[in-house]
Amino acid sequence: MDGVNVTGARPLAFRRIESLVYSPLNYTLTLLVDVAGAAGFLLAGLLKPLPLGLRLLAVVAGFATWGLLEYIIHRWVGHGRPSMARRGHAAHHADAMARVASPAFMILGGAVLVWLPLAALAGAGAASMFVGGAYAGYNHYALVHHIMHHHEQLLPRLGLDRLQRYHDSHHQNQTANFGVTQTLWDRVFGTYRPERVSKTSRS
Ligand SMILES: [Zn+2]
Ligand SMILES: [Zn+2]
Repeated sequence: MDGVNVTGARPLAFRRIESLVYSPLNYTLTLLVDVAGAAGFLLAGLLKPLPLGLRLLAVVAGFATWGLLEYIIHRWVGHGRPSMARRGHAAHHADAMARVASPAFMILGGAVLVWLPLAALAGAGAASMFVGGAYAGYNHYALVHHIMHHHEQLLPRLGLDRLQRYHDSHHQNQTANFGVTQTLWDRVFGTYRPERVSKTSRS
């Protein structure tokens, strides 16, 4: 696993950006920016004239697409080649209570980059609803993951205890169970392992 040393040979500006990943202020700011970002895309989509069925289809397709992105990003970026994202994710595995998040505005920037070609292809309204749905999926993931590690007492009431055990087992075995909010893509890609560890053995 990568270490979390951010003082290596990388340029100073890059190291300053990377140090944000480990800042508790950034953790809170990122949450606020991303909730506002998703709301902004959905509102922009609602303000465009679009049939209701198409609106719903675009939001649901976007939300479902996030589930696949969650798997891909976690497996092949968080546990992929050496990078800032991999170092940040290694810090989460080293200390599951550490408040590690992407730099604020990074996810929003990525959402805009996805929106631009989609808007050119399918129109601004459908693109906004799709990206808003995917962004809502991202926020759902971030919230569920935050609750798993910081508010365990809420998990049974929210019906998330099984998913928590599944995520716990990923913390034990980092080659399996890359989904956080669902198990679908682990089953599809053959990395699903039944959850089997207790809360107390979680790192
Ligand atoms: Zn975790
Ligand atoms: Zn992981």
